[in-house]
Amino acid sequence: MKYLDEYRDHDIAQKIIAEIRRTVKRPWTLMEVCGGQTHSIVKYGLDYLLPSEVELVHGPGCPVCVTPLDMIDRAHAIARRPEVIFCSFGDMLRVPGSEGDLFQVKAAGGNVKIVYSPMDCLRIARENPDRKVVFFAIGFETTAPANAMAVFQAKAQGIRNFSLLVSHVMVPPSITGILQSPGNRVQGFLGPGHVCAVMGWREYVPIAARYRVPIVITGFEPVDLLEGVLLTVRQLEQGRAEVENGYARAVSIDGNMAARKMITQVFDIADRSWRGIGIIPKSGYKLSYAFREFDADRIFEVENIRTREPEICISGQVLRGLKKPVDCPAFGAECTPQTPLGATMVSAEGACAAYYNYGRHLVSIEAGV
Ligand code: SF4
Repeated sequence: MKYLDEYRDHDIAQKIIAEIRRTVKRPWTLMEVCGGQTHSIVKYGLDYLLPSEVELVHGPGCPVCVTPLDMIDRAHAIARRPEVIFCSFGDMLRVPGSEGDLFQVKAAGGNVKIVYSPMDCLRIARENPDRKVVFFAIGFETTAPANAMAVFQAKAQGIRNFSLLVSHVMVPPSITGILQSPGNRVQGFLGPGHVCAVMGWREYVPIAARYRVPIVITGFEPVDLLEGVLLTVRQLEQGRAEVENGYARAVSIDGNMAARKMITQVFDIADRSWRGIGIIPKSGYKLSYAFREFDADRIFEVENIRTREPEICISGQVLRGLKKPVDCPAFGAECTPQTPLGATMVSAEGACAAYYNYGRHLVSIEAGV
């Protein structure tokens, strides 16, 4: 299949690996930002194929993982209300809050629906005028435009029984947060291909310049990822720190202008809390004043949310590239995708879930570590 087979080609991959071996002279630590990239790296064992000088650590770009526990509890509290129809993408239904997940809320009588687009919620709201329809709007710049469009259309069509519970986050402030965090090890980034398809790559230029760190916008197939590693290592070895677009078949410097315009029409930039990391200033979106009547946080005013993360969980350090899932004593033992204790095991895109799903807990056991 065009645009797929050539990016999974064994011979091309081997040639790039050989070129990485020729290029690298010193040890470097690189971070892939997206959960989808982590998933591909672990699935294809790309980190095992690289020379020992190149270490890959895994970044915070898994939207389900970084949605804070208090926001999940807030969603569950709203979904339990009898007047509410609570809508979400399917991957949020099994994410545990402090007291179970949305499947359990549904089993206990909550009206929880899986939707495939936030626009589906407008139809549900029209068909149920006596109910309040809430959509759980999580994720990065990739999902923000469609969520913004749903609110924009609700306002234009006079649909008043629809609202968004917003927990949107943005990639560039998280990269800055990682670079500023104590003990940071990351020297180069494989930038987020999907996010940049929407937002473009211009906003990464000042980050690369200020922190003297290469950022290579990278795709998701094995050849994309190996090429991203090669371009990043080449910059590091040559003492350069630039933004390079290694995913030109999908990404342009300014991205999708219509999608970006929709985001800025509906959302303002706000401080956001990231699960496992904490508050990062100006790292997310909230509904702007003009759309405040669609803000589920304002409409429902859920109080008294108290959360506690398991002390054993080191997902905050995993998300900042300080540790790997196999460094966690609970990995593959108390903590599995069926019994997730922390942020990076709750979603298939999380680093701990990727390591588990591709059998790295078995490697650890066999190695006796
Ligand atoms: S394996 Fe589980 S407990 Fe350990 S860091 Fe990952 S999510 Fe947290």
